[in-house]
Amino acid sequence: MFRSHTCGELRISDAGKQIILSGWVSKVRLMGSMAFVDIRDRYGITQLSFNEGYSKELLEKAAELGREYVIQAEGKVAERESKNAQLSTGDIEIIVTGLTVLNKSKTPPFTIENDTDGGDDIRMQYRYLDLRRDVVRANLELRHRMAQKVRNYLSEYNFMEVETPVLIKSTPEGARDFVVPSRMNPGQWYALPQSPQTFKQLLMVSGFDRYFQIVKCFRDEDLRADRQPEFTQVDCEMSFVEQEDILQQFEGLMKHLFATEKGLEFGDFPRMTYADAMRLYGSDKPDIRFGMPFVELKAPGNGVDLVSGKDFVVFDSVEAVIGICAKGAANYTRKQLDGLTEFVKRPQIGAKGLVWCRIEEDGTAKSSVDKFYDAEALQAWKHAFGAEPGDLILVLAGDIHKTRKQLNELRLLMGTELGLRSSDDFKPLWVLDFPLLEWDEESERFHAMHHPFTSPLPQDLHLMDTEPGAVRANAYDLVINGVEVGGGSIRIFDRALQAKMFDLLGFTPEQAQAQFGFLMNAFEYGAPPHGGIALGFDRLCSLFGGAETIRDFIAFPKNNSGRDVMIDAPSVLDSTQLKELGL
Ligand code: ASP
Repeated sequence: MFRSHTCGELRISDAGKQIILSGWVSKVRLMGSMAFVDIRDRYGITQLSFNEGYSKELLEKAAELGREYVIQAEGKVAERESKNAQLSTGDIEIIVTGLTVLNKSKTPPFTIENDTDGGDDIRMQYRYLDLRRDVVRANLELRHRMAQKVRNYLSEYNFMEVETPVLIKSTPEGARDFVVPSRMNPGQWYALPQSPQTFKQLLMVSGFDRYFQIVKCFRDEDLRADRQPEFTQVDCEMSFVEQEDILQQFEGLMKHLFATEKGLEFGDFPRMTYADAMRLYGSDKPDIRFGMPFVELKAPGNGVDLVSGKDFVVFDSVEAVIGICAKGAANYTRKQLDGLTEFVKRPQIGAKGLVWCRIEEDGTAKSSVDKFYDAEALQAWKHAFGAEPGDLILVLAGDIHKTRKQLNELRLLMGTELGLRSSDDFKPLWVLDFPLLEWDEESERFHAMHHPFTSPLPQDLHLMDTEPGAVRANAYDLVINGVEVGGGSIRIFDRALQAKMFDLLGFTPEQAQAQFGFLMNAFEYGAPPHGGIALGFDRLCSLFGGAETIRDFIAFPKNNSGRDVMIDAPSVLDSTQLKELGL
């Protein structure tokens, strides 16, 4: 028997018991005629105690232990003299009567502690050691619990987990595919799924009614902190549903996760149209942990113009002038304001400049454009923003779409600087009524904003022929704290409408048939009305874990260049392998 207990299990009530523990040496403290060794496993740490008076031979053995040696210790549980309240086993120690080294260890390249001295690269290279650290393991434990909860919850609602293939034909979700050459079919390639989209729809045609899968998806995109080339989705599809049914079902799942994992209760999740999200927050995934909505001082079609005709050429010449009001930020110093200007002028953001207006204690306004706007004009701004003494108004100008995007970045920065974005505060939001199509200037054609299988809103169907760009999609995103946690849509289930959609997207009927004939044919064999959603599982876990990067919630993640530095992939193939593949 290797062990009778784990290293996190023994308590004062076990005193006197004869036990065996196995684990890793986390710390050795030699104190002359005594030694203490901390033994660690996944469950905790227990103190082993060695004493010359008890066994000189064992004490000598303990002195030879190195960090991360794998050992087995036999002994008796005893009450500790100096207790350690930090440890669950802190009231006891083991008076060791037998010690076996099961395996030695080289000195690890970084300390296996919560505050480690190891940098990112070295920890990724030795990820198996990094995973020994409590903080990292706790993230994966959270992930495990979340997956269990999702499975149980959905199973209870009759969802059936079905595995779909990984070697498939390309699914158009807007990203690049990873591809795999076929040895048996020279010159032909599989694609790895960007999502199981078409398969889950086919399962609905099969009558499966409610499907889910916790599934790996693959997208060959540029990477960011919240993106990995392979990631996991909670992928779901339902038959005989409308948008409302799906929102209710998955709001229920999210509430269940929040309640059981975080002890948080929620009322109905707020909903916002895509148009409002863009107008008020400049983003289709607004962070509504804080307000600070956009106020348009000038914008096409809104009938307001509080800036033109004052000889300020910048504001006169642009399409839109939009701002935010940062509550209580009037105390920003000149240097801080310059910092904000520099921030918005960074090439990634691309604004030309920043106008600020401070509301003083007496209610008067002081702005960076006082030359052009007199007290009365600034009072009108103040009024438009609902600004009060102590507030800071920040204004950007330019093309409406670009300005909204830039102001979104500035709003998020101000939210962070003013401490309004706490990771323990959770603000879910449904974003609805996305446009069905997006015009792409470069290729001069429409793209599906969600994917080509998304149906138009029934009330916009009549615009499909005349004004396709104005058609709204029967699609929805779940956003939490400014993070897109999931998205889905009610699908097209009629062959003719699907064919029209492909036509709008610039496919010839032949191309559509060649690529998606299998799906359109299936629609002719009794396809039920259906719709679904997919939740980004890695993001969901990182959100629940209060971290920004999803990498911390993936056991073996890739770095920002898509490399696994531990196994050193991707790598070159030898020539025989290439030849076999016909490459
Ligand atoms: N397949 C979609 C995605 O991966 C989700 C859905 O429409 O269900 O974003």
